[in-house]
Amino acid sequence: MSHDAARGLARSPDMQERTVAEQVRLLYRNGPTSIVVNLVNAAIVTVLLWSAMPPGILFSWLAVVVLVAVVRVVLLLKYRRSTPGTAELRRWGLWFCLSLAASGTSWGAIGLLATLYLTLPYQVFVAFVVGGMMLGGLAVSGAMMPAYLVFMLPAGLPVAFGFIIQLDPLHLAMGALALVFTVSLYFLGRNINEGIVRGIGLLQELEATNEQLQAEIVERKRVEAVLREGEKRYALATSAGRVGTWDLDLATHDIHLDPNLKAMLGYADHEIENRLEDWERYVHPDDREQVMEKVQAHLRGLTPEYEVLHRMLHRDGNIRWFVARGTALRDDEGRPCRLVGTDTDVTERRIAEEQARQRQVELAHVVRLSTLGEMTTTLAHELNQPLGAIANYSQACLRTLKANTDATDVLYAALEQITAQARRAGDIVGRLRMFVRKSDGLRLPTDINTLVTETLQFIETDIRERRVQLRLELGNALPAVRLDAVQIQQVLLNLIRNAIEAMNGVSRDARTLMICTQRASQSSLRLRVGDTGPGLDEVAIKRVFESFYTTKPYGVGMGLSISRSIVEAHGGRIWVETPAGGGAEFNFTLPLCPPYNATYLSIASM
Ligand code: ADP
Repeated sequence: MSHDAARGLARSPDMQERTVAEQVRLLYRNGPTSIVVNLVNAAIVTVLLWSAMPPGILFSWLAVVVLVAVVRVVLLLKYRRSTPGTAELRRWGLWFCLSLAASGTSWGAIGLLATLYLTLPYQVFVAFVVGGMMLGGLAVSGAMMPAYLVFMLPAGLPVAFGFIIQLDPLHLAMGALALVFTVSLYFLGRNINEGIVRGIGLLQELEATNEQLQAEIVERKRVEAVLREGEKRYALATSAGRVGTWDLDLATHDIHLDPNLKAMLGYADHEIENRLEDWERYVHPDDREQVMEKVQAHLRGLTPEYEVLHRMLHRDGNIRWFVARGTALRDDEGRPCRLVGTDTDVTERRIAEEQARQRQVELAHVVRLSTLGEMTTTLAHELNQPLGAIANYSQACLRTLKANTDATDVLYAALEQITAQARRAGDIVGRLRMFVRKSDGLRLPTDINTLVTETLQFIETDIRERRVQLRLELGNALPAVRLDAVQIQQVLLNLIRNAIEAMNGVSRDARTLMICTQRASQSSLRLRVGDTGPGLDEVAIKRVFESFYTTKPYGVGMGLSISRSIVEAHGGRIWVETPAGGGAEFNFTLPLCPPYNATYLSIASM
């Protein structure tokens, strides 16, 4: 630490207080030596001056020295017992100074007495002893300048005074020497004191730095432990969640790849270099362009972050599906400098989704076949009509030919009827085949009104035979919707059949089936299938879309549940309302632009 710093420390009130405290502690530490030296020197002086000075005066002086020594011993003992804090040390310092002043005065007294009662050689001897004491006092009380002064001045000045008042040249010279000695001891004392104070300051600074270092070490250890714990937790979380992080330097193309990520592709950390070019090789070639497009758009600032589903090549030759999410970090000028993000392996989720979709499709198909089973009577009846007509016209032809009459016109007319009826039967069978076929999962732009009309053709016999009034409200110029026609037809047929069946108990002239297509919003169409049946109670409203909920004696309770899955898979919503005028109204919406849905992408495309 520099001097300036040391002074700076000494200037701060807290530091000043601590420095004084340390000075007082030093005084007390040197106290015992000082007492012993005082007593030993006093004994020597007494012995040597035994024959030269009146014993009364000498003993009185010795008694004073011993008394002061006893007082100082008591003070030291009290100090040791009380172990005072920094705040009380000033008071203890004052007491010590008083005891030093007494001690200094006692040495000044013997010096003065020597100049008054003794011959020159004794005077010189005593002056040397006092000078030695003053010098020694520097070592004992030099730590605190006031303490040294209250000892040194009362000891030195009386000796100088005693010499000077004799007024002869030799004594005057000795008095002057004693004064010079005292003054130079003062300056020496000041220098030594400054050194000690600076030393104390440095020590305190060192202690403070040490304390700070200790605290920092403890804090660092704590942070390291937290980090280690965090890292462990993060590694566990990422490996369990099959997530890996990466950090790409856009300038150098160095990429920090989580070893987890490499492991997900079957590679050890060292087997894939941490370079973008190397990593890119593992992205499926057909997906690289799409990934780059998303990244570029993000780097241009068009998206706040990017997310892209893409395939990666696994070491074992299989393909894994990943969702990559990333954000660019920008420099002070807003230019992207780093790209950081995560790659999550979603292959298992996609397989599960695909399997669920397949099962849903199969279930829907089974339900469709069972619906068809229920409709066989109607269908047989429907087919019977054209087939019966064909049989009748054929017989008419045969009869005409047998009669051998030249009735070409009659034959023509009959054959035309046969052709027409055969086509009608063919249409019925065609619709049947269309309904029975399995959905291929393709969603094509479809005119919703055409789909409604085709579905109605399928069930028109039922409608006719049950004397149901049909109110068709088809919206004008509705945009095409991207949908799976087989599936949406199944939804419509299910709603229409439920509506017709619900009106079984209603008198024939009060059976109305309402089908309505309309624009629901900018982004969706709405279809409504209403009836004038008994409607639904509160329990039914809550439960109709549950699987196996049915109130029909031979019902399965899967129709509405499957309808809901189909509509929701298309990004729409299905619900039931009970209009004020009675009956039930089933509604569903279809978004014009279906949202991204993982089930769109078939695993087959892998
Ligand atoms: P299911 O037709 O085999 O019963 P659904 O899932 O199609 O299965 O229908 C479930 C139940 O919802 C029906 O049993 C019936 O109670 C009720 N429901 C459906 N449509 C209507 C409707 N239009 N009016 C009254 N109740 C209906």
